[in-house]
Amino acid sequence: MPYLRPFVAAVVRPIPITTREQRIQELDRAGHNPFNIPADMVSLDLLSDSGTGAVSIDQQAWAQRADERYAGAESFYRFREAVRDIVPYRHILPVHQGRAAERVLFSALLGPGKISISNTHFDTTRANVERLGAQALDLPCPEASDLDSEEPFKGNIDLEALKNVLSGPDGHRVGQILLTITNNGGGGQPVSIANIEAASAIARSHGVPLILDAARFAENAWLVTRREPGYQDWTPRDVARRAFELADGAIASLKKDGLSPEGAFIGVHDSELADRCEVDVIATEGFRTYGGLTGHTLEILAQGLREVLDPHYLADREREASFLAECARNAGVSTVQPAGLHGIYLNAGRLLPHLGPEQFPGHALACALYREGGIRCSELGSLYLGELNEHNQLVKPAPFELVRLALPRRVYDHSHWEYVGEVLAEIAKDPEQVPGYRITHAPKVLRHFRCRTEPVTL
Ligand SMILES: *Cc1c(COP(=O)(O)O)cnc(C)c1O
Repeated sequence: MPYLRPFVAAVVRPIPITTREQRIQELDRAGHNPFNIPADMVSLDLLSDSGTGAVSIDQQAWAQRADERYAGAESFYRFREAVRDIVPYRHILPVHQGRAAERVLFSALLGPGKISISNTHFDTTRANVERLGAQALDLPCPEASDLDSEEPFKGNIDLEALKNVLSGPDGHRVGQILLTITNNGGGGQPVSIANIEAASAIARSHGVPLILDAARFAENAWLVTRREPGYQDWTPRDVARRAFELADGAIASLKKDGLSPEGAFIGVHDSELADRCEVDVIATEGFRTYGGLTGHTLEILAQGLREVLDPHYLADREREASFLAECARNAGVSTVQPAGLHGIYLNAGRLLPHLGPEQFPGHALACALYREGGIRCSELGSLYLGELNEHNQLVKPAPFELVRLALPRRVYDHSHWEYVGEVLAEIAKDPEQVPGYRITHAPKVLRHFRCRTEPVTL
């Protein structure tokens, strides 16, 4: 059947068209860190899918009805009802973004000496665990380490390793098991319902709470209906509900599948835990019925949550991501397989074999995409995950040198992805022209956001 995209643009934003000279100058000014480039010098912004989507006409319409009263505003109840339609927990607390939810919930569950186990902690998630003096332990499933395999659920947690830690000498220190769905740090790969069920049983038998980091709960649900035997006839909403039912609580940034520029929630069953979180939210975010969000945002979120589980929308998202992956591969650049939904991960290590990990090939490709095409994205490789010595030299590389092209929701179309493919093809034609990088300034935590680098002249 011919494919029909299920929406059109209602309001447009012109994008800047820049010259290569301007972009070289911007890179210099930015210390060769894409996070430092002003957005008005970026043509295609694939840095993040977080808060960068387009809102719908219905979201805008609801926003006009915002109730901004301090306590118990109508907008809060509409928000909570939309969350509870998907998330079956007794207590729902809004907060301004995902990392606030992390900070509040983890403060109640973790502390010095505690361990948080995850399929993979997302960057700010890890930072919020470590800030509490706790240890963040990643246990991705073994299939995750083969970037080229077509295994459907490479986002799963390694159940055997999880059992071993829990029944080993450090078992009593585990304060939470955190499943990131989809697994952002792990190539945007989904987690199967079977894996969540098994993790849930293990967590229960050890008396440890299972928490979902559910920023992409709808995308995970969609991929379950597409890939997991037995779920073909389920709606994405029913799969999402099932995932939440299996856990004891969740934190979710709603800047992704809330289809909103801001917002998040904490959801838990346990009333005593909810009580502790609520005190923290009131002290640091806002009263429990707004958590730092305006009524305007609460309405956008409520409507976003009604829209995001629409199978036509999710099918379109899958189609866009697969098309971008195809453009990259046609350009001669391999991508992590199978394609997820929120981002395409380019294998920079393979494209730039003349650069060792100590020259940060992922970062080199990200800079080249900006220089050659005004495309902004960031690396997920040794610059972000490697270990440095005191001279900012790499002593332990990351397992892979990847670049993430994030897909903002409902923003770009096929012509933009074709452009990305053309720029990649230019780079891939003569990859040895791409210089490596050295770090000139590296803060100790969240380095990739704040570091400065310079090209190593050949
Ligand atoms: C984005 C994200 C967060 C943090 O949420 P913010 O709203 O950006 O603070 C946490 N976990 C995952 C998996 C995310 O993708």
